[in-house]
Amino acid sequence: MTSPSSAADYRVIASRLAFPSRAYIDGSWHEATSGRVFENINPATGAVLGTVAHCDAAEVDKAVGAARRSFEDGAWSRAAPEERKAVLLRLADLVREHAEELAVMESLDSGKTIKDCLNEIGHEVPTFFQWYAELADKSFGKVAPTGEKTVAMIVKEPVGVVGLVLPWNFPLLMAAWKLAPALAAGCSAVLKPAEQTPLTALRLAELATEAGLPAGVLNVVPGFGETAGQAIGRHNDIDVVSFTGSTEVGAYFLKYASESNLKPVGLEMGGKSPFIVLEDADIDDALISSAINAAFWNGGQNCSANMRQIIDLKVKDTFLHRVLEKTRALVVGDPLDPGTDLGSMVSAEHQSRVLSYIEAGKSEGARLLAGGGASAGLPGCFVDPTVFDGVTPAMRVAREEIFGPVLGVIGANGVEEALKIARDTDYGLHATIFTRDIDKAFHLAKRLPCGTVAVNGFTEGNVTTPFGGYKRSGSLARDNGTEAVEQYLQTKTIWVSLR
Ligand code: NAD
Repeated sequence: MTSPSSAADYRVIASRLAFPSRAYIDGSWHEATSGRVFENINPATGAVLGTVAHCDAAEVDKAVGAARRSFEDGAWSRAAPEERKAVLLRLADLVREHAEELAVMESLDSGKTIKDCLNEIGHEVPTFFQWYAELADKSFGKVAPTGEKTVAMIVKEPVGVVGLVLPWNFPLLMAAWKLAPALAAGCSAVLKPAEQTPLTALRLAELATEAGLPAGVLNVVPGFGETAGQAIGRHNDIDVVSFTGSTEVGAYFLKYASESNLKPVGLEMGGKSPFIVLEDADIDDALISSAINAAFWNGGQNCSANMRQIIDLKVKDTFLHRVLEKTRALVVGDPLDPGTDLGSMVSAEHQSRVLSYIEAGKSEGARLLAGGGASAGLPGCFVDPTVFDGVTPAMRVAREEIFGPVLGVIGANGVEEALKIARDTDYGLHATIFTRDIDKAFHLAKRLPCGTVAVNGFTEGNVTTPFGGYKRSGSLARDNGTEAVEQYLQTKTIWVSLR
């Protein structure tokens, strides 16, 4: 087949895929000791893709044992940084080579559109491995200023075995966000993908071995939160946990740590982010595309979704008119069709949760202008892109994370009222501001308590810029940028008294 370009082409690739079904521990495949498996379902069709090992504490313990052995033997943790760099660069290349296969696998597993999967896996995931590979031999320690009778060195060492627990919304990208800096730092990892989307992380582990990663450095344990996830959180031989997921589960990881070995826990969690349009903003194509992307990208299953769109009353009618035009043109449907804009929700359970929020919005008095329910005529867990006007800050749809394709418009009278509404949230992950006035842009950017503020364009930043939340969206730890590596390093002082 030449370069695939249609749903039919991607279905051919899908028909040839071999889905991973077992845990990857110490460089080889393992069934769960209990013999249990769980079904892996394509949410866009309801078809069972296969079964996957239902790992629990026994496999986590086995994986931690392999990770610890590999960490102590030093083949990775004490390898020269340029050796780690070479392996991670090979892994980046292998992901690029297998991008179509991985993207189709991810789309089938999650209901995400092939367009998004190709972008994430063909471009972003390899960029992460490449960027952190390049960083591996460019980070240095320091020598502290002391008198001439002393040398005091401050060195950074890999922290040891890290537990990485992932969500389902960007399965392979989140794996890369965590793994690339952890591996570049020299750590060994036990990674648990979300139970809804275990496939691409398992395939990645196999590719990492092909790239030259020593056995035991990357172990992937598919399983559920309360079993495998909790076992990672409570394991006494895991040195650090990095978690991305809901705020509720992030809190469990703090409890697990406090009841086990006090491991540090990096948390990247939910959001309820504002998209602010001031009266001087040009309501042009770029702004409307940003508004649509901010709410509907990945079907709204996005931690930084800017669902609360706070629009100055002077431009609200124009904004709504154009947003509705664009919303109605969005294509919801077959995730394998490159023309599809919104795929399926990740599961039937999540679809019901999103639909219940839409019902809450209707019953609380928000004005439904588009969408408002499950997509008619489609077999899987689809939800139509939904627009509400007349949302007020007290409504549940304005306070709780929906994690679905819902855009809610809240009118604001001037910049200070917009700021007050934007700040009125328990979360602090992201915000977007549209204005032509640089003073107002900086005023808002500095007063918004959140990890990323995008001005005049919706974006999460890129590999170079740290990503994480304030308040209930995160801990001090950050993914991305040089900051991410800090989660996986500890600082040692070597104080030498000269004779
Ligand atoms: P989730 O919290 O339900 O699950 C995340 C992971 O935690 C999964 O691997 C799950 O198996 C595990 N888990 C669940 N219950 C557990 C328990 N009791 N003990 C241990 N582990 C447990 O989140 P999700 O539904 O997979 O993902 C959606 C959430 O993730 C949203 O809140 C979203 O905002 C957040 N998210 C945040 C970011 C970020 O960078 N801030 C990025 C993506 C997603």
